[in-house]
Amino acid sequence: MPLKVNLRHLEDHEVRLEGQLPVSELDLEPLDEVIRADQPLEYALDVQKLEGGLLVQGRLHLMLDCQCVRCLKPFPFPLEFKAWTCHLPLAGEDRVRVVHDCVDLTPYVREDILLEIPQHPLCEPECRGLPKTWMGSPASAGSPGQAAAGGSSAWAELNKLKL
Ligand SMILES: [Zn+2]
Repeated sequence: MPLKVNLRHLEDHEVRLEGQLPVSELDLEPLDEVIRADQPLEYALDVQKLEGGLLVQGRLHLMLDCQCVRCLKPFPFPLEFKAWTCHLPLAGEDRVRVVHDCVDLTPYVREDILLEIPQHPLCEPECRGLPKTWMGSPASAGSPGQAAAGGSSAWAELNKLKL
């Protein structure tokens, strides 16, 4: 089911569009290799006919599967638009294309989703990447000096929090 609104249904009342759109319809490819979009877009949109145009408002939700570019950990990245709004003119130079009384909302949804897809996904903003022990030799990572230093600074941070 494409994400379309029938203008005739809008004549005297607003229309609610609710459902799922296969992600293939959004035509998001090619995405970066660290990002996968396999799950359908969920939408719940209210469409209103205003003078000279359509007002679309509602919620969009798309779950992406990302891989952190620093630590390589896979993590889900929910793209959520809680109050997505789109104004589509039905007249003038920028008027939307109407085919068989229907307006396809997909290109407008697609545009905003593409803008929100992370360029360099991080599992968390502060991700420090791969643990240092992976880079160095196991022996040096476990040395008592380092453990003590790490431990004391962690405690210092905790004490700051308590104050
Ligand atoms: Zn990470």
